[in-house]
Amino acid sequence: MKLNSNDTFTTALPADPIVENTRRQVENACFSYVAPKKTAAPKLVHVSKEMATAIGITEEDSATSHFLKVMTGNEILPNTKPYAMCYGGHQFGNWAGQLGDGRAINLTEVVHNDKRWAIQLKGAGETPYSRTADGLAVLRSSIREYLCSEAMYHLGVPTTRALSLALTGDRVLRDVMYDGNSAYEKGAIVARVAPSFIRFGNFEILASRGDVNTLKQLADYTITHFFPEIKTTGTAKYVDLFKAVSTQSLTMVMHWQRVGFVHGVMNTDNMSILGLTIDYGPYGWLEEYDPGWTPNTTDRQHKRYRYGAQSQVVLWNLYQLANALYPLIEDAEPLEAVLKTYQDSYGNAYIEIMTSKIGLFSKDKNDPELIANLEQLLHRSAIDMTIFFRTLAVLPQGDMEATIALLKEASYQPEKIVGVPLQDWKDWFIKYDTRLAIEQLSVAERVEKMNAINPKYVLRNYMAQLAIDAADQGDFSIVEELYTLLKNPYDEQPTAQKWFAKRPDWANDKVGCSMLSCSS
Ligand code: AMP
Ligand code: MG
Repeated sequence: MKLNSNDTFTTALPADPIVENTRRQVENACFSYVAPKKTAAPKLVHVSKEMATAIGITEEDSATSHFLKVMTGNEILPNTKPYAMCYGGHQFGNWAGQLGDGRAINLTEVVHNDKRWAIQLKGAGETPYSRTADGLAVLRSSIREYLCSEAMYHLGVPTTRALSLALTGDRVLRDVMYDGNSAYEKGAIVARVAPSFIRFGNFEILASRGDVNTLKQLADYTITHFFPEIKTTGTAKYVDLFKAVSTQSLTMVMHWQRVGFVHGVMNTDNMSILGLTIDYGPYGWLEEYDPGWTPNTTDRQHKRYRYGAQSQVVLWNLYQLANALYPLIEDAEPLEAVLKTYQDSYGNAYIEIMTSKIGLFSKDKNDPELIANLEQLLHRSAIDMTIFFRTLAVLPQGDMEATIALLKEASYQPEKIVGVPLQDWKDWFIKYDTRLAIEQLSVAERVEKMNAINPKYVLRNYMAQLAIDAADQGDFSIVEELYTLLKNPYDEQPTAQKWFAKRPDWANDKVGCSMLSCSS
């Protein structure tokens, strides 16, 4: 395996001068050098061929013991020096101080086909940022990150990627439900890949310490390498950086709303500066349509990171980034203008996404009401989001009976679709049909467009859990099956019809299938 290693983060930015791997506050630096922990009996579980190819790794390369050793921390690539990044963050609305890569170790950056990629091992052992934790990751959370990041990529959602999934052979102690029942689980490492893993929190930690010098270096570095289109100088370039981050973050969260993805832990340390979905933890996919839903048990009470609040949370997080960049600009007005633009645009962006999901590609002044009514009905009738939107394209227009039958099939509580709710649905479909009539597209064109927007297959939590349960017994066939299925989430896959189904009853209250803790 010959990777075209080309490190910029560590060459352009200040390093922590201490090289011992002790837990500490790291000041005046963007990262600390740290080697991954050697693993007992590494075993490769899966490789993403698409990702491997993108960074210049062939199929033969990925089958070598060298690849396995590198991706599990047992060998270090020649001429590279692994490191952990320093960042802080606001967690659930509160400043949490220094966090950092507590269990992620960056191996190196590579350039392939003119694209820059950083390779990072998640679960590769302690770093100076591990605080009280062990720096490790377990198989179940690693399978979830591995499958979901690749699935999101194929759904067209901006995301970090996954290159490989491996067992470490080490045992990791976890208290899954935080109820005093700790048990050993299988350790695993995901090698993940992104142009950069810089987060809002990398800027916040420097600003919080008044380290304007390093903050400026980090902002300049980010612009040079990841926002080359920014040509302004002086303070204007930092405003332009903020503008670009704001736009990309809006794009990301609109994709989440489109596919029904709920991140679960939208803390500012989990917000990529590149607008990528990052850190797959207790995430989930909306099944019964409920804007108030979050999969994260830690957030059960306040539901801060619920589906329906995600775009406002992005705004809140952008405020924190604005505060962090302020010392480089010293003028609040242009930052406020960017935040105002976000605030003014997300409502319209949302209507545009939702109307496109129901096959409306022109604009009408009544569309916001049509969407709001639909959302209320979906919620009231506990209808499965993915099934509803995918099926809508092929509903027999004008055949109300068939339409209602399909609605009932997609509902988790079909017995509730009677009386007033049933009449409300009928009224909605009459309005919808009238609205569809003013669209210019032919039915076939509309169906094609809708099918490219509304996925047929997403990684429902119970699906990931089935893969996890089998994997725990040494059977990785469901990991492979779901990985392959989710490479083409918009295609009809007749042999995979069983995955286009509502969540089965057995999964309603099972850990990992409806709610998840942050334990990983
Ligand atoms: P998360 O909630 O997973 O985004 O993590 C928040 C912070 O805790 C980050 O700084 C992580 O690196 C750190 N962290 C999470 N799990 C572990 C672990 N097992 N060992 C060390 N640090 C961890
Ligand atoms: Mg995180």
